[in-house]
Amino acid sequence: MTKITVAKGDGIGPEIMDATLEIILKAGAQIEIEEIEVGEKVYLAGNTSGIANESWDTIRRNKIFLKAPITTPQGGGYKSLNVTTRKFLGLYSNVRPCVSLHPFVKTKHPVMDIVIIRENEEDLYAGIEHQQTDEVVQCLKLISRPGCEKIVRYAFEYAKQQNRKKVTCFTKDNIMKQTDGLFHQVFDEIAKEYPEIENEHWIIDIGAAKMADTPEYFDVIVMPNLYGDVLSDVAAQITGSVGLAGSANIGEECAMFEAIHGSAPRRAGQNMANPSGLLQGAIMMLNHIGQTAIAEKVQNAWLKTLEDGMHTYDIFKEGTSKEKLGTKEFAQAVISNLGELPKIFKPVVYSNNSALNLPKYKRKPAADKKLVGVDIFVHWSASNPNELADKIKTMESNGIKLTMITNRGIKVWPDGFKETFCTDHWRCRFKPSENSAMDKTTIVELLNSAMKENIDVIKTENLYEFDGKAGYSLGQGQ
Ligand code: NAD
Repeated sequence: MTKITVAKGDGIGPEIMDATLEIILKAGAQIEIEEIEVGEKVYLAGNTSGIANESWDTIRRNKIFLKAPITTPQGGGYKSLNVTTRKFLGLYSNVRPCVSLHPFVKTKHPVMDIVIIRENEEDLYAGIEHQQTDEVVQCLKLISRPGCEKIVRYAFEYAKQQNRKKVTCFTKDNIMKQTDGLFHQVFDEIAKEYPEIENEHWIIDIGAAKMADTPEYFDVIVMPNLYGDVLSDVAAQITGSVGLAGSANIGEECAMFEAIHGSAPRRAGQNMANPSGLLQGAIMMLNHIGQTAIAEKVQNAWLKTLEDGMHTYDIFKEGTSKEKLGTKEFAQAVISNLGELPKIFKPVVYSNNSALNLPKYKRKPAADKKLVGVDIFVHWSASNPNELADKIKTMESNGIKLTMITNRGIKVWPDGFKETFCTDHWRCRFKPSENSAMDKTTIVELLNSAMKENIDVIKTENLYEFDGKAGYSLGQGQ
């Protein structure tokens, strides 16, 4: 018996949760349910996170969380409960299988069967944003080695467990050589440990185009958070219905399972909604907690129900479907098929699909880190970079020289193009000239002289070498 936390959520949430729980309990799931309240009511009672402290205690104690969709009220600074839950509980891996159910669900891609594995904790989702000048705002993209190692290893271990043949990595490391570059590098390192699984890397733009056009080419795809957010929705959509997909959010301690769709408030309380997405989440949960035989029984009954033409309104199609069912009736149809196998779809066989036990991240020995320069960012509202260079050069001292100015990453001094459009946000790179060295006091001196010259410094970034390798990007055109 496994104790799980259940939240019935908002909109169609309670109906699809009741249907899902009834199906899995009738199939013999050995679960004890502890229910908590999250979502709209909690938000509107004044809790901007949508969840009470006692509910966190329940989730952390039970470790397994089955969650129906919730409604995030518009405006008013309410925080997304999904993002908070993933980060607080360290649910680093988002797993979303996207399978076509042709010919019962209309799709342009009848043989699609891919799994998107999305990094779930970092990247631009750190939400660290600043306005720095009148014209420029920034968002910090943070990618860490432990973050990359955990998600990439998860993807390969998942592929191994599920007998999948290939893991593909999507990044944009031709542009973001440090951040996406690290993700790709870690992918290449870890891929070597799994010689039996094919591996490849695609630049995300052409990879996404290929996935939308020829999804059958891919198997498991692993990628950083933001790309995964976008592409997992694309992948689910092109199977023919976002209403049929579930997802798992997996951490080292806890895991959360859900449907990928929202609370569909317009359909609430009408016994119309399709419970399949949440049911798919629940099947992933049963596998995770080791109740593999029950998971298999439910999945096969569900496939049989779909191929029998027993459909809710969202996938009902004259000619293909036999009966249009409500939420409750659909659940009963699945229950009556428990123990049966589909005849047109291939029955699923789950062997050992339980939670993956990954080794803990081991920190590597620290590299030899050397300060080799500094980028000083300046708010300056004129537009001639040569004028700015003259002004900035007054800051030079003790062999520390201005070597480059960029505007939005493009080199504009020395030897810039007059055609390059410049905004009011400039990066001025200082480096020690030959025979000079620098330390952090050099940076303080540079900033002091900027103050004296009335130069509006908005931030600095230290330039380091790690074991002799530059840890910063060049200017575009440098
Ligand atoms: P939605 O997914 O709720 O609905 C999109 C469309 O799909 C609607 O036409 C809806 O009727 C239909 N639909 C969705 N699920 C269905 C189902 N199971 N059966 C039949 N039809 C279904 O997206 P939305 O309308 O953009 O968002 C509604 C609310 O859900 C918002 O408050 C949003 O913040 C929230 N939301 C929550 C989650 C979550 O909790 N995981 C995810 C996405 C959106």
